[in-house]
Amino acid sequence: MAERVLVVGGGGREHALAWKLAQSPQVKQVLVAPGNAGTAGCGKISNSEVSVSNHTILAQFCKDHHVGLVVVGPEVPLAAGIVDDLTAAGVPCFGPSAKAAQLEASKSFSKAFMERHGIPTARYGSFTDPQKACDYIRTADFPALVVKASGLAAGKGVIVARDQDEACQAVMDIMKDGAFGSAGETVVVEELLEGEEVSYLCFSDGHSVSQMPPAQDHKRLQDGDLGPNTGGMGAYCPTPQVSQELLQQITETVLQKTVDGMREEGTPYVGVLYAGLMLTEQGPKVLEFNCRFGDPECQVLLPLLQSDLYEVIMNTMNGKLASNAPVWHQDSSAVTVVMASGGYPGSYKKGVEITGLSLVQDMGLQIFHAGTALKEGGVVSSGGRVLTVTAVRSSLELALQAANQGVVAVGFPGAVYRRDIGHRAIAHLKRHRGLTYKD
Ligand code: AMP
Repeated sequence: MAERVLVVGGGGREHALAWKLAQSPQVKQVLVAPGNAGTAGCGKISNSEVSVSNHTILAQFCKDHHVGLVVVGPEVPLAAGIVDDLTAAGVPCFGPSAKAAQLEASKSFSKAFMERHGIPTARYGSFTDPQKACDYIRTADFPALVVKASGLAAGKGVIVARDQDEACQAVMDIMKDGAFGSAGETVVVEELLEGEEVSYLCFSDGHSVSQMPPAQDHKRLQDGDLGPNTGGMGAYCPTPQVSQELLQQITETVLQKTVDGMREEGTPYVGVLYAGLMLTEQGPKVLEFNCRFGDPECQVLLPLLQSDLYEVIMNTMNGKLASNAPVWHQDSSAVTVVMASGGYPGSYKKGVEITGLSLVQDMGLQIFHAGTALKEGGVVSSGGRVLTVTAVRSSLELALQAANQGVVAVGFPGAVYRRDIGHRAIAHLKRHRGLTYKD
């Protein structure tokens, strides 16, 4: 019997999850709470106003509306125990438990975990006393430092310091001035790593992992990786510059080791595990774990997933990944370009009318809405990152070209976006002309 599925969240990632779930013949309806204009009534997909922060109300809603599966997009509800509470109420919910989500929600936990299990990461210290953090900074035997709020800070709690004074200032800003609220009650001070970053995700059923193709996000606002950090301005997948051999090594030394370690410690990890890695000269090292899909990585990963996402999720929840590995489209590349409001990541105007959306769909591109709302029959902006335009083509260059054309066709005054998504991969391909991902 076909199921009704509820997706928790309202960004581009959740639109992509709903879009992919709706393609399953086993799914009769996808509700998105709170959703956005893109999920507000499109085929099988519609929005729901149910509260997702009150798990008792949510569980009752799911029972009343015969929701057979809840899929959680963002990290905050996972860290707040949505999976534990819904599961206890008899509602199947996909994602890690609150304890397992500590891998993302507490950097001091995840660093100590990596140390216990010999998972490669930057050298670090963890502190609840600002004075001790500064003493460590003054005496650390590595030259440059990164200061991080340990808790969830919406991707903003990381400060890369140029010298010891700046690092100590960052500690004071976080711990004394509460720059990131309670997320900064503990800080992690770590060595600065250099290299290329890659997002390497897998499904984990608690025992087995099934890796996804590697992706790369672009955090800076402007082309050439300039300007302020953002939630992510675009992503592409796969990354031809990362060899299959290296990926296999990361699967074993990071992903599988993490899932084994979590199980051994009595907190089995079931869900999507995201390793943010720095590929350093000394080998790959973990910058962070996330306990869910990335946004915008999700918008390039799911279009490349050939398998039925509903089935993949059910196999993951039922411990059957090893014999049912998800299948990915080979010989295709995906690029997603984020369109943001003018002024983002600072203050920006809302309610700006967006045009050209159907034109882009006619170009064989997929739009995933993020900060959008319906107003008087039209679509208007309602957030910093407004939407993403995703292209899947036979090569990375073609995908980037198509996504860039799509972005030009969408119109809203003041839109900010990058035109160089995947530039590292394209430079690599130019250097090694003729090589493809599989080589
Ligand atoms: P995190 O939330 O820990 O991944 O940090 C966010 C971003 O800060 C990463 O994607 C990196 O670009 C940067 N970053 C974090 N830790 C380090 C580090 N140890 N060395 C260099 N850059 C880092």
